[in-house]
Amino acid sequence: MAIQNNRLSPIEFEHNFADVHPPFDHAEGAVIEANRCINCYDAPCTKSCPTSIDVPLFIKQISSGNLRGSARTIFSSNIMGGACSKVCPVEKLCEGACVYNFLEEKPIAIAKLQRYATEKAIYGSWNLFERKAQVGKKVAVVGAGPAGLACAHALSLQGIDVTIFEKEAQGGGLMTYGVAAYKVTPQFCKAEVDYITSIGGIDIQYKKELGKDFSLKDLNENYDAVFLGIGVGIARSLEINGEDLEGVVDAISFIYDLRNNDYSKINVGDKVVVIGMGMTAIDAATQSKRLGAKEVTMIYRRTENEKPCTDVEYNLAKLDGCSFIWLAAPKELLGVNGKVQQLVCSKMSLGEPDASGRRSPVDTGETFTIDVDMVIKAAGQIPYKELVNTSSIENKAGRIQINANGSTNMKGIFAGGDAVNGGKEVVNAVQAGKDGAKGILVYLGFQFMV
Ligand SMILES: Cc1cc2nc3c(=O)[nH]c(=O)nc-3n(C[C@H](O)[C@H](O)[C@H](O)COP(=O)(O)OP(=O)(O)OC[C@H]3O[C@@H](n4cnc5c(N)ncnc54)[C@H](O)[C@@H]3O)c2cc1C
Ligand code: SF4
Repeated sequence: MAIQNNRLSPIEFEHNFADVHPPFDHAEGAVIEANRCINCYDAPCTKSCPTSIDVPLFIKQISSGNLRGSARTIFSSNIMGGACSKVCPVEKLCEGACVYNFLEEKPIAIAKLQRYATEKAIYGSWNLFERKAQVGKKVAVVGAGPAGLACAHALSLQGIDVTIFEKEAQGGGLMTYGVAAYKVTPQFCKAEVDYITSIGGIDIQYKKELGKDFSLKDLNENYDAVFLGIGVGIARSLEINGEDLEGVVDAISFIYDLRNNDYSKINVGDKVVVIGMGMTAIDAATQSKRLGAKEVTMIYRRTENEKPCTDVEYNLAKLDGCSFIWLAAPKELLGVNGKVQQLVCSKMSLGEPDASGRRSPVDTGETFTIDVDMVIKAAGQIPYKELVNTSSIENKAGRIQINANGSTNMKGIFAGGDAVNGGKEVVNAVQAGKDGAKGILVYLGFQFMV
């Protein structure tokens, strides 16, 4: 494996990591696209958005030149509407639901229009929301990811003082440390966090970790309520021999390094294998290729039809020149002098359908071997089980359990986002943060505000 990634020039790195969805380059383009929208009654695009953004309204506001109003419409439902316009899998959400699909025409470019309005607001520091007067209550939020930020913003708007405790040095959660660099830049993530906190009443304490620097008991004693938005952070291991060989890394750490360093400092192999076919696996594979890996092969134990990534992501990996091996599961990693050299895989076949009709992969007993110099494990993430188990919070294998009000079984402690759902998307975490804030307002006796 390369010690220093000097395969590409700075210009090539810049090109490879440039924005995958470029914005409108002039206002006319946005207005022309906005004018295509037919303002559907009971709009399916809005219904398919987990945060229920009023899509026809914000598009109408763009076409009528009311950009401030458009940004306000978006942020009222989704304070991370800027990030979501870049990272949401819109093909399975708003754009996938647009009526134009049924007319066999291109759906309205909702994400691009949303990006147009929100970027203007964020980079122009538009003050679109007024915080209410302080109500004399304080809430602690753990985690400055999408769930924590959305919760903090919704509470602060109502005059509640919020302190966010974040273990990393920057906010944004996996938006900043996980999502592929060609979808969203660290600079944008920072600008968005600054924009969200600019309403006032939100103090982010970085490098402060629950379970290390303070306990849940401390928060319970010092705050009127607590929201846990800690996400799911630990990569699942493959449980096979050779995982500790040099050159075997987990996708989350690989992407974390990529997001925190100069690209030229990121090691990447010549022959990379990525295990998994989800969003994280695709991000790891495409970014390995963009860092200069010669061959990137993705391995999945089921068939192409059952891949968990969207077709858009799959096509991105295909366009980047990645190859795919279906019905294969990692069995063993072999190395020489402590460095990984081969991956042995079991050939799988599909078994009999279970009660739900799903056919699970079954080991055929046959194997094949691939030469590798880097293996990236993207077999999913597991919740912070140990951390959650240090308290009496009800959880299922580390996944925090909440009721319909967003509350855990512990009085005054709420939770949401990946920590509860086990890992979905940014837009789901934002809605969970809003739901948590609503639950907290009711708990604190401010029913009239929700
Ligand atoms: C590689 C990758 C790519 C992805 N790509 C996309 C994408 O393209 N589009 C999309 O919509 N979604 C994507 N996702 C999913 C998305 O990033 C998450 O669903 C979303 O960020 C969840 O938000 P959250 O606030 O619940 O958790 P997180 O974003 O994980 O935020 C949790 C925060 O809590 C902090 N924290 C954790 N433990 C502690 C502690 N003990 N004390 C203090 N702070 C703590 C963490 O540092 C973090 O900042 C991706 C995820 C990964 C891993
Ligand atoms: S479904 Fe498409 S055309 Fe209809 S309101 Fe939504 S974006 Fe406009």
